[in-house]
Amino acid sequence: MRTMRTTRTNWAGNITFSAQRVHRPATVAELRSLIAASRRVRVLGSGHSFNDIADTDGTLVELTGLPPEIDIDTAARTVRVGGGVRYAELAQRLHDNGLALPNMASLPHISVAGSVATGTHGSGDRNGGLGTCVSAVELVTGDGGTAELSRDKDGDRFDGAVVALGALGVVTALTLDVVPDFAVRQYVFTGLELADLDGRFDAITGAAYSVSLFTDWRAPRFRQVWLKQLADQPPPDVPWAAPATGPAHPVPGADPVHCTVQQGVPGPWHERLPHFRPGFTPSSGAELQSEYLLPREHALPALHALAAIAAEIAPLLQICEVRTVAADRQWLSPAYGRDTVALHFTWVPDTPAVLRVLTLMEQRLAPYEPRPHWGKVFTEDAAGLRARYPRMADFDALAAELDPARTFRNAYLDRLLPARDPS
Ligand SMILES: Cc1cc2nc3c(=O)[nH]c(=O)nc-3n(C[C@H](O)[C@H](O)[C@H](O)COP(=O)(O)OP(=O)(O)OC[C@H]3O[C@@H](n4cnc5c(N)ncnc54)[C@H](O)[C@@H]3O)c2cc1C
Repeated sequence: MRTMRTTRTNWAGNITFSAQRVHRPATVAELRSLIAASRRVRVLGSGHSFNDIADTDGTLVELTGLPPEIDIDTAARTVRVGGGVRYAELAQRLHDNGLALPNMASLPHISVAGSVATGTHGSGDRNGGLGTCVSAVELVTGDGGTAELSRDKDGDRFDGAVVALGALGVVTALTLDVVPDFAVRQYVFTGLELADLDGRFDAITGAAYSVSLFTDWRAPRFRQVWLKQLADQPPPDVPWAAPATGPAHPVPGADPVHCTVQQGVPGPWHERLPHFRPGFTPSSGAELQSEYLLPREHALPALHALAAIAAEIAPLLQICEVRTVAADRQWLSPAYGRDTVALHFTWVPDTPAVLRVLTLMEQRLAPYEPRPHWGKVFTEDAAGLRARYPRMADFDALAAELDPARTFRNAYLDRLLPARDPS
């Protein structure tokens, strides 16, 4: 096992982790011994969250030293993925074997286990969050033992084990359902007026397999509409906006070289579904992010509520992205039980100013039942979150059962999901 004395930050640099050492076990046996000997533990995935969700005052562990398992079962259409593997490696291997994931987030740089732990999602009216294709979770528990929960064996209880915020144990492997390889064409349109979205939200978000609308809120207008269409389907029909004349980047002024290929050129799913290419900087690189997921029927009133405070939002905003996510059954998923619209904000890296505008935004969005992205910046408190997640008490009970000594608690969980007596 490697143990590095180091001060680590998250990808964005706005969180410095408390731990002075990062442990990198080389085998699951080493990991189990480390956990058994530790009072408090958190795993650091690829560090792409924007808050203290991965932080701990105890033992901070990285799984990048474990063998990078990607075991494909072509007949069963499943893949078993090690706890430290990133989407970029997984996607390439699946494609090489004629298989695919149904969807991806905006970037492939992130770890699979860390992404599903926070409810990470892409876009598409019929696409669930990335965790919805997980069928089994293998854990190392707080006593150094192991546990496995699966969709087949554990039923409803399994729905609490995927979007689990790292609270149940160290995920050493996930099994995912996969689909046959497919090709996608990506198109960018420009200049969709917010007024033109009124009455057409379903038509526009349903115009392709995955749709993203981008606005800087400097005007009630979407600067860009990105449509990712299955290559065997007709090109999307978007008469309300003009086709882009060249490659685009969602962040104004940024170089499109960082982005996946557009202009209708067909390519494999993993080179079109993310906005950003592996090996290139995703998004802007100097930023904070927030995101609120609402029932999709609230999309237009919520967008107009934001338009009313655009003068406060725009000066701090690099870009805002609107996506859709299909409802799922995972207890802590922000899309639990409701077809969802996701309102994402890439901010300038000024935490105090961003927190001020978030307070205002959360007040204005409150009537529309927003659930904040677990891995981004928000000000919602424990009571507010509990009111938004009907299965929170069931999650408390599952966490108490799998982690009775509270080894995987940290300040984030103590603040936002304070432990309750499950009785
Ligand atoms: C540029 C950029 C673009 C993004 N785009 C999107 C997007 O399109 N859609 C979206 O929904 N989100 C997006 N995000 C947010 C991102 O997907 C989440 O923050 C996600 O959690 C990142 O995964 P990670 O491995 O970096 O997680 P980390 O931040 O490292 O960890 C997140 C949580 O998972 C836990 N964890 C990690 N690995 C394990 C494990 N093996 N076992 C147990 N717990 C574990 C950690 O302890 C922590 O609690 C983006 C972030 C960035 C920086």
